[in-house]
Amino acid sequence: MVKEFSLKQSADLKLSENFKVKEFACKDNSDKVLVDVDLIDKLQRLRDYLGKPITITSGYRTDSYNKQCGGADNSYHLKGMAADIYCDGVKPIVIALWAEFNGIGGVGIYLNRDREFVHLDVRPNKYRWVNKSGTNQSINNIVDLL
Ligand SMILES: [Zn+2]
Repeated sequence: MVKEFSLKQSADLKLSENFKVKEFACKDNSDKVLVDVDLIDKLQRLRDYLGKPITITSGYRTDSYNKQCGGADNSYHLKGMAADIYCDGVKPIVIALWAEFNGIGGVGIYLNRDREFVHLDVRPNKYRWVNKSGTNQSINNIVDLL
């Protein structure tokens, strides 16, 4: 279920133990913020597993911001169902493997030299991909990367 918040009114509202509304806000500072409750639940479980802060580099995206940053037309970021994340000192593969075995629908691992992060989304089906050179390559299972 997706919930809608106002960034102005609820920026510091806690969605879970460690996540606030503002962390999911669109980078264009739009007031509307969409967040799926299942996504929050999964991220909090990952946060508990890692035992340290997770940085969300992209959560909800408006249509215009999604176009601007080159997101897919049907991106789950548009629905508040996706987050791009990293955790200092934790390799993306560790996060992606956790996601693989904890019922996360969409898992994309981005291993470009300038920026490494993991995309997680709560789509109903299972989809995995790796991005090493700016283009997505579909894979069956994150374990295949080991
Ligand atoms: Zn993403």
